[in-house]
Amino acid sequence: MNDCIFCKIINGEIPSKTIHEDEFLKVMLDINPKTNGHLLVLPKKHYENLFDIEDDILEKIIAYTKEIYPTLKEKLNCTGLTLVNNNGHGQDVKHFHLHLIPRYDGEKIDMEACDNKDDIEKIYNKLMD
Ligand code: AMP
Ligand code: ZN
Repeated sequence: MNDCIFCKIINGEIPSKTIHEDEFLKVMLDINPKTNGHLLVLPKKHYENLFDIEDDILEKIIAYTKEIYPTLKEKLNCTGLTLVNNNGHGQDVKHFHLHLIPRYDGEKIDMEACDNKDDIEKIYNKLMD
């Protein structure tokens, strides 16, 4: 997909704060985080949304989510994790991605109102430490 921003990130044409990469997945910090440590899990192959991604790739995405959670708790002190996946209307980038949004004690439920975020570089360093 020539005009897909996430394909360009996966190909290295656009930089990203990548915290994990393997044969099938790329995991990076969201450029406009809802909370500290907001991650996007992307399949390397371009699928538009939930309705065309292959189930075995979806399984890998869920397995990765379960695998990373203890690390997020340990390094960021989050106490919950909200998963978001937009399809069609409400989906800005038409390359399947799962949002992993760490949640914190005392944080407001309305994520748009969540402030006091650290900068992405600081969070990246914490996660890669
Ligand atoms: P969605 O509305 O589910 O398609 O969300 C797209 C997400 O991609 C948003 O949370 C954006 O902040 C994020 N995003 C867009 N461009 C980039 C980028 N270059 N690097 C990291 N995240 C991005
Ligand atoms: Zn793509």
